[in-house]
Amino acid sequence: MKNCIHIPDDFAGFDPCGFCIPQPLASSIHRVLIPHGMIKDRIKKLADDIFKALVEEEVESVSLLCVLKGAYRFYADLQESLSAVNANESSKGHFHIIPEFIRLKSYENTSSQGEVKIMGIDDLEKIRGKTVVVVEDIIDTGRTMRKLLSTLESHQPKKVIVVCLLRKRTPLSDGYKPDFVGFEIPDRFVIGYAFDYNEYFRDLMPLCVISEKGIENFKE
Ligand code: 5GP
Repeated sequence: MKNCIHIPDDFAGFDPCGFCIPQPLASSIHRVLIPHGMIKDRIKKLADDIFKALVEEEVESVSLLCVLKGAYRFYADLQESLSAVNANESSKGHFHIIPEFIRLKSYENTSSQGEVKIMGIDDLEKIRGKTVVVVEDIIDTGRTMRKLLSTLESHQPKKVIVVCLLRKRTPLSDGYKPDFVGFEIPDRFVIGYAFDYNEYFRDLMPLCVISEKGIENFKE
């Protein structure tokens, strides 16, 4: 978790009135937690750090695995930044980026032990002997990532590196820490930048804390 940006618990966030928020969504947003431009800036640095780590390991190619749906925007921006560093003549190294996609669905049983269903990758055998960089949206309790990692490990990749945009500080955390994290955030429910609430708000650009009204309005 090198260089992770720590957003403290007492940070109130920004007034949404200062940002371009579609009018029908305005009442659903409590505060803007991370403006879009700051996310993009942080991703450039994450890409630099990941690039250096991979070049140090002398990897020739990397399977860049997007965990859908929540990570799609982060994945697109990270891949663009990684490709830019890769293409820079002054960068000391190069590796091929092989895009892969996986979709996870969690089902909670009555004792709230999550069962994670993995879909969307045609053949996990593709990762055997490969260096895999998992691109995930958020680590909350850590359960989803641990389950994904145990599935990936059963296909014997050479190495698995995990990069998450966010890690939530929650008492429910099982202690899992990814290799690279964009921001460590307070224990609040966030939406925007592809983070959803019942599939809404993925198209919102800044990362926001949902309001009580938003929870009520978009309840299923
Ligand atoms: P975990 O298994 O670590 O508890 O949960 C991980 C998953 O829960 C994430 O991949 C994400 O889909 C969902 N999640 C956790 N916290 C949030 C949040 O604040 N906002 C949204 N939209 N999804 C969340």
